Amino acid sequence: MISVAIDGPSGAGKSSMARRLAADLGYTYVDTGAMYRAIGLYARRAGADTKDAGAVGALLPQIKLDIRLEDGAQHILLNGEDVTEAVRAEDIGMAASDVSAHPAVRAFLLDTQRNLAASRDVLMDGRDIGTVVLPDATVKIYLTASADARARRRLAELLEKGKQTDYETVLADIEQRDYQDTHRAVAPLRQAEDAILVDTSDIGIEESFALLKKTILAHI
Ligand code: C5P
Repeated sequence: MISVAIDGPSGAGKSSMARRLAADLGYTYVDTGAMYRAIGLYARRAGADTKDAGAVGALLPQIKLDIRLEDGAQHILLNGEDVTEAVRAEDIGMAASDVSAHPAVRAFLLDTQRNLAASRDVLMDGRDIGTVVLPDATVKIYLTASADARARRRLAELLEKGKQTDYETVLADIEQRDYQDTHRAVAPLRQAEDAILVDTSDIGIEESFALLKKTILAHI
């Protein structure tokens, strides 16, 4: 089985790149961020404090997540409801970052993630895929860009969708998530020793795609 791990900070373009690369290479795309987002969404809906490990942990037995793979694309079902779109909301990103710091939440998702990679070729993106989930991945990439470049891209995306926001708000959100994701005690975001660093601060989407594809093909 081939497994490609792509880790990196929020807004580095991991999911859009990973989705395209997986389709191009014929691998199944697994978006682990969506799983943390689904738990964040459930906790928010339940009115729980997402930073409270005990409160979130108490909800886990009520949560059943199903991952459905349709034409190589991942659909995520939360207790039977397809929340693939709902989890993309901006505030759910922060809720996901909060709940992902709790060890019980990470343990809850680990088997699901490993099982997905056990029986098919996958391209999996997240924060700890190369370091924790798939330490023996065939290829590991650490995809990053400066906080400024990531904030500018995210802002353009949000404005295009008609959302009201500004550069400072988006940058502050990115910096806060970077801080939370790199400073948590369990599975913090970091580059695996054997991961290839790809920095897209100064290159566009097409160039990033070509560089990533070339990098993966050179290592499988
Ligand atoms: O990648 P995405 O923005 O969808 O991830 C949402 C949040 O889930 C991240 O900020 C991160 O805290 C958490 N996450 C994680 N480990 C992963 C994937 C995502 O902790 N493998």
